[in-house]
Amino acid sequence: MSITKKFVTYLILFIIICFAIPILFTKKFEEIEVSSNLENQNNNQENEGNKQENKQVEVSEIESTYNYKEYATIKLLHVKTNQVEEIKLDDYLYGVVSSEMPANFEEEALKAQAVVARTYTIYKIQNNLGKHGEASICDDSTCCQAWISKEDRFARWQEETREANWNKITKSVNLTQGKIITYEGKPINAFFHSNSGGKTETTANVWGGTGYPYLQSIETAGEDAYTQYNSEAKFTRNDLINKIKGKHADFQINFDEPECIKILEYTEGNRVKTVKIGNLQLSGVEVRTILGLRSANFDITINGDEITFTVKGYGHGVGMSQTGADSMAKSGSNYEEIIKHFYSGVEIEYL
Ligand SMILES: [Zn+2]
Repeated sequence: MSITKKFVTYLILFIIICFAIPILFTKKFEEIEVSSNLENQNNNQENEGNKQENKQVEVSEIESTYNYKEYATIKLLHVKTNQVEEIKLDDYLYGVVSSEMPANFEEEALKAQAVVARTYTIYKIQNNLGKHGEASICDDSTCCQAWISKEDRFARWQEETREANWNKITKSVNLTQGKIITYEGKPINAFFHSNSGGKTETTANVWGGTGYPYLQSIETAGEDAYTQYNSEAKFTRNDLINKIKGKHADFQINFDEPECIKILEYTEGNRVKTVKIGNLQLSGVEVRTILGLRSANFDITINGDEITFTVKGYGHGVGMSQTGADSMAKSGSNYEEIIKHFYSGVEIEYL
């Protein structure tokens, strides 16, 4: 072989090597790349799975870390013992939400309750200055807001449901940490009650006064599915006379008169505004108080010696209905939608 021939042969071989080997390797690399991509995808899916798991863990273990500045802790007056306890705002709310709403209610309803309770607390603190001395708020539901300790709450729950219930309550508070309901930038007077009987009430019809623009009479569907919707109270003639005479000594009634008891006027919220009973004209709210009815939304039937009050709803009827909130949550509403349904023209803002 001449040198030239040798050179040409080597050159061809070199060229083959230069092209062929990369092609071979490229194929291999492609295969490797594809398989490694698959691996990555699998890893990603696994990672996502892990992330979701982590997320679930995070959610149930989420803590309230919001910087409340002024309201980081509140001073809670325990009415029975007359002791004042300093407690973190959201720790306090665990005891309020678990006392005010059943733990088996929907998560979004519990979150709405948490935001309502937080708002109610701040409103009370800002507007009840000095009412409880150095304390910010008390644990009496008829004065401020109901509250229960974790120990007492656990004692009233079935053992197997305790942890899950408590986690659900704390989650509702922690997932809404820092949030309150405002109207024109200020915390609202966030009244709530158990069941509106289908329509909420204005404050003016319950306590008088001029009312609040964000507390209107609002209709809600689905409340009739709850046991709080329907109730009945029966009285004998004498029972009724004695109860009313306890408040109005001059009360007289002649049950032989056809219109001895007659509802004269209704409120926007379908409650009794004024009712004539014997020689008196009473408000539905007063009749509710005197007779211990569940609400002022009632009908009256007289049958011989028996007077029956057929009652719709439970509570004063102002602001958020808790069973209405649960019913809305069951139909897919989130806590913000629930809040904006019951309180007109409000915003949800960080405190
Ligand atoms: Zn109080």
